[in-house]
Amino acid sequence: MDPKFVVLMGGPGAGKGTQAKRLQVELQLPQISTGDIFRENLKNETELGKLAKTYMDKGELVPDEVTVAMVRDRISRPDCANGVLFDGFPRTIAQADALGALLAEFGAQVTVVPYIHVAGDVLLQRLAGRWTCTQCGHMYHILFNPPQTPGVCDLDGARLYQREDDTEETQRRRIDVYFAQTAPLIDYYRQKGLLAEIDGEQSIDAVYEALKQAIDQAA
Ligand code: ADP
Ligand code: AMP
Repeated sequence: MDPKFVVLMGGPGAGKGTQAKRLQVELQLPQISTGDIFRENLKNETELGKLAKTYMDKGELVPDEVTVAMVRDRISRPDCANGVLFDGFPRTIAQADALGALLAEFGAQVTVVPYIHVAGDVLLQRLAGRWTCTQCGHMYHILFNPPQTPGVCDLDGARLYQREDDTEETQRRRIDVYFAQTAPLIDYYRQKGLLAEIDGEQSIDAVYEALKQAIDQAA
């Protein structure tokens, strides 16, 4: 089977992480979430983590050179040979160009870009109620997808937390930054014939089925 390099596109709160966690099991592909890698670095207090924090706390993007170098390092690992599910990367045209060039080095290219479309006001509601497992990273929503026991992960019983950058001010800034810097990628990939539009305001299961279909149909 040809490797599949899938770029999950959508605003902050669109459901990329929620879907990537399920898809990676089904498709047997690693999820590369640049946000998760930055948060891991933050937790381990690396230099990269300290640098990223100054941007993440404000809802701004970490500079392209830093982000691209980190992705280059990650996709060079053997588990990426059959493909990758990118979640939260690329976020600028420069990152998208860099991704194309990186994949070309491996004789590969982006296979499909499912765009999970969710309106701005819904994005904000999604972010406002998001709770994440401290252990496995599984995402819940206080209203739309609550855990069985409040504050506890259904999968492993670990504690749930709200992300530090999920304050109302930062959420709004992240959404603005998305529309200014990331949304232009929708046309970028549409022009390359790679975009697959998905209605992201359906149930999590319905979005999942639509995504699977879009990915299966891609060459
Ligand atoms: P992203 O990774 O795109 O920022 P997440 O996957 O973290 O988004 O989802 C944001 C929040 O929205 C989470 O609380 C998640 O439980 C919730 N969510 C995700 N998909 C849906 C959906 N289809 N309907 C309702 N809530 C959703
Ligand atoms: P996320 O987990 O995708 O919501 O990302 C959280 C934060 O990490 C963002 O608000 C940015 O500060 C930073 N970040 C994640 N991915 C990128 C990226 N591709 N480019 C720049 N900054 C990023």
